[in-house]
Amino acid sequence: LASKLNDSSLLVEKTLIAGQWITARDGATFNVHDPATGRLIAAVPDLGSADLADAIDAAHAVQPDWAALPAKDRAALLRRFHDLILANAGDLAIILTAEMGKPLPEARAEVLYGASYVEWFAEEAKRVYGDIIPAPLPDRRMLVVKRPVGVVGAITPWNFPSAMLARKLAPALAVGCTVVAKPAAQTPLSALALAVLAERAGIPGGVLNIVTATDAPMVGEMLCASEKVRKISFTGSTNVGRILMRQGAEQIKKLSLELGGNAPFIVFDDADIDAAVEGAVAAKFRNAGQTCVCANRIYVQSGVYDAFAEKLTQRVRGLQVGDGFSEGAEIGPLIDSNAVAKVAEHLDNALSLGARVRVGGTAAQQGEQFFLPTVLTGVTPGMKVASEETFGPLAPLFSFDTEAQVIGMANDTQFGLAGYFYSRDLARIFRVAEALETGMVGVNTGLISSELAPFGGVKQSGLGREGSKYGADDYLDLKYICLNLS
Ligand code: ADP
Repeated sequence: LASKLNDSSLLVEKTLIAGQWITARDGATFNVHDPATGRLIAAVPDLGSADLADAIDAAHAVQPDWAALPAKDRAALLRRFHDLILANAGDLAIILTAEMGKPLPEARAEVLYGASYVEWFAEEAKRVYGDIIPAPLPDRRMLVVKRPVGVVGAITPWNFPSAMLARKLAPALAVGCTVVAKPAAQTPLSALALAVLAERAGIPGGVLNIVTATDAPMVGEMLCASEKVRKISFTGSTNVGRILMRQGAEQIKKLSLELGGNAPFIVFDDADIDAAVEGAVAAKFRNAGQTCVCANRIYVQSGVYDAFAEKLTQRVRGLQVGDGFSEGAEIGPLIDSNAVAKVAEHLDNALSLGARVRVGGTAAQQGEQFFLPTVLTGVTPGMKVASEETFGPLAPLFSFDTEAQVIGMANDTQFGLAGYFYSRDLARIFRVAEALETGMVGVNTGLISSELAPFGGVKQSGLGREGSKYGADDYLDLKYICLNLS
């Protein structure tokens, strides 16, 4: 892997704690593999609780100084960090594809997407305004200021190893918080590469600490149990989110949670069917279906069901499966054998209950962790694909008759992250956009993420928002100051 990089110093097998690149106290390491080939690509420190305590202490010790820097200075450091990410985007993408598997152009897009949050919050750092409230008495003055919450524990998943971390780091650092970040054990290298660049940008030691570790429950428990950590920002499964919320209850820990989704994708009979097919491919098959905003349930109105199914099938048949580094690859490997097993389980369940495979439906010949992009028709609400996130390249097509019926089906889930629909009827567009119980809605588009917009869910999809003018608030506390002038 190092030989593919322009700057091989971005591939590190140590981790950054308190401004030092360290190994675990006990020397333990864990291996990182390329999911496309199973090949070993690196071994990184497997930190234990004493190492984690060092990270928390370091973040806690430097936080007041970091918060005391003028916002303009923090902004300048983040801007430099952003510029370094852009300058090294090619290498960061290679590292990302190697550890995670997604096609190289998608990896590059992810790196740039993550960088856009760093740029945005570098700008927002200077705009953390307070308020002056008209007081009820002549001798009173009432002020509201915003203060950083303090040390943030950030836990991120493997599906966007670069962007999910950037999306947390950027607002946290911008407003004066310091961070102890734990990347997923499958994909720690992107986080370490970002840490190299953060250090190079001049972000002081201890402000960003990376905890590479396989014992995720230990890390979660310690971050929740430490009084020095004031907030947990987590992206991952709803189940782990629930564990963190429970553990955080003891200290009323502040939480931002980006959890699972089960996104509906609705095609009404007045839709531009070709556009809907393109949107479905983008929303379903990006990252081989492994994103929390991926279309999980595709509902097609009965009048256009056959036409849509046929066109989607043709389009999906043309998707190129391959190693993320191979030219033209659009569908990379799944992250591990469990992910493949889950797709197979959902597929078998649907077939046993009467669904039909239109294209795909089996593992792909490229390797054990590849699954062919698959379209299923004849899918009904009793099947697992209706209620569970598949997190793989499986597109199940449900049929519906009326708008009211499909809104009921779309909302019949504990999740509420993203929803998508295609229609050309303006009144319907407003009705459906307002009726969907999700934090985000894509109308006539399958791609909605942007640093300019608030990303997040309702129901059991989470708490808080990342990005946009609202995103900094998750890392700030309001402080009210009452002055008696008499
Ligand atoms: P995924 O299905 O994406 O792996 P997880 O929620 O299991 O979703 O993982 C997301 C992140 O949460 C990873 O960094 C993982 O190591 C971490 N994690 C898993 N279990 C726990 C836990 N009990 N406490 C804290 N973090 C955890």
